[in-house]
Amino acid sequence: MGKPTGFIEYKRQKTKEQPPLARIEHFGEYATRLSDKDLQTQGARCMDCGTPFCHMGIEIRGTAAGCPINNVIPEWNDLVYRGQWKEALDRLHLTNNFPEFTGRVCPAPCESSCVLGINEPAVAIKSIERSIIDKGFEEGWVMPRVPRTRTGKKVAIIGSGPAGLAAADELNQQGHSVTVYERDDRAGGLLMYGIPNMKLEKEVIERRIRLLQQEGIDFVYNTTVGVDITAEELRAQYDAVLLATGAQKQRELRIEGSEGNGVVLAMDYLTSVTKSYVRSNFEDGQAMNVEGKNVIIIGGGDTGADCVATAIRQNCKSVVQFGKHPKLPNARTEETMWPKDPSIFTFDYAYEEVDAKLGRDPREYCIQTEKIVSDTEGNIKELHTIYMEKILGEDGFHYFKELPGTEKVWPVDYVFVAIGFEGVERSLPERFGVELINNRVAATIKDYQTTVPGVFTAGDARRGQSLVVWAIREGREAAAAIHTFLAKEVVSL
Ligand code: FAD
Repeated sequence: MGKPTGFIEYKRQKTKEQPPLARIEHFGEYATRLSDKDLQTQGARCMDCGTPFCHMGIEIRGTAAGCPINNVIPEWNDLVYRGQWKEALDRLHLTNNFPEFTGRVCPAPCESSCVLGINEPAVAIKSIERSIIDKGFEEGWVMPRVPRTRTGKKVAIIGSGPAGLAAADELNQQGHSVTVYERDDRAGGLLMYGIPNMKLEKEVIERRIRLLQQEGIDFVYNTTVGVDITAEELRAQYDAVLLATGAQKQRELRIEGSEGNGVVLAMDYLTSVTKSYVRSNFEDGQAMNVEGKNVIIIGGGDTGADCVATAIRQNCKSVVQFGKHPKLPNARTEETMWPKDPSIFTFDYAYEEVDAKLGRDPREYCIQTEKIVSDTEGNIKELHTIYMEKILGEDGFHYFKELPGTEKVWPVDYVFVAIGFEGVERSLPERFGVELINNRVAATIKDYQTTVPGVFTAGDARRGQSLVVWAIREGREAAAAIHTFLAKEVVSL
């Protein structure tokens, strides 16, 4: 640690953001870097705390505490403080294949675990991480690393989300020949067509893909495994297969009238907008457009928030977001709103934007959707709701009770359904004959191997909808397991 008094002398500063009214005029990234000098002082705030929980990467009741990929944060904080940026980049790349993704969209469990956070704002770890890698690309320090030798072993990776990409990178560096199959027209999974461009510029993903290609990884696009190429063909052609297909089966809204025109799954909306943006800057007219429309988003998580931010950029007339289904005991109320700490999470941006443009917070809590009413042509026009009260039952659990007299009719043209994901799409795992557990591909955390030898799984497909950083961790660990599996095969020949 270079400056023992840094945490006393300097205040926290994080990545700069364009003001809300300016940034909703476009779909480009709105966060920009601090100056090198400011970043050095931010690095100096890391106080050599002795037990740096920031890089522990443990899971407590499903919530990450510390960095899931064990980034050695205090070390690169110190290197940044000393102005040794290239060394900081090398240290960062040791544990993180894609810091340019996590530096932009990770909810930064490292910052929630920062010891300085006990009585001061946490070290701005995420901003420092992003700056190290962005500077690395600008300076030309991130170069293709082509493996010197090849093992002769072939691995097929199905799915090019962060889990598949991390595994591909690791396995390629071990000298195996890797082919990534992707059903979409570009790589990145939810990084590409789920997370909106303003949070993660798509060129940032494409830049990394070009690098991986130069390093020898093959990408096969527009190819749905199980349809365009069979599971049997893949198994015959490759020594190991990794299912990194995500958990993208969305939960549907099932209330009276939900079949009306204008009720759309959130991911279909987000995907149509991003596809149209990256292919033609919207000139193809393929993006679903809510300009001048009344929009309601059902679902209080980050997918819902991304719909809010997209709708406000399209100049919608109104936008409202309902919190979790109030009949669930863990439904969000004003006291348990999400995100808990807006300085860290990545989707409070949407609420600031609506507030700036329309002068209100779009979020509504403890509200029950009753029915949707359409006009004679089948286009939706009203959403009927009733507010709920949260009460504590005799059994100690919370329940929700309808509040008589709070019925409300909302004028609506579009309802975006963002009420979560049900797990993996079952057809592919079934074709490989692997077992599922709770709508996820069954595999142990130890070796990521499914119930079929030689077939592995990682990322959301194994753990359910999660975070980019967990997908990277799983991809890295699954790659290590596949490497061991392939090495055993060589030994037993
Ligand atoms: P995915 O990213 O889902 O990738 C799976 C890939 O497999 C896809 O490209 C898919 O097309 C492909 N595939 C599936 N089946 C086949 C097949 N049969 N053949 C060929 N290809 C196939 N996390 C964060 O950390 N921060 C955020 O801000 C954030 N925002 C999010 C916003 C939204 C709207 C959503 C939906 C998720 C968000 N997440 C965020 C979660 C994060 O994106 C996921 O946890 C992560 O992408 C999972 O990675 P993965 O590689 O397991 O799967």
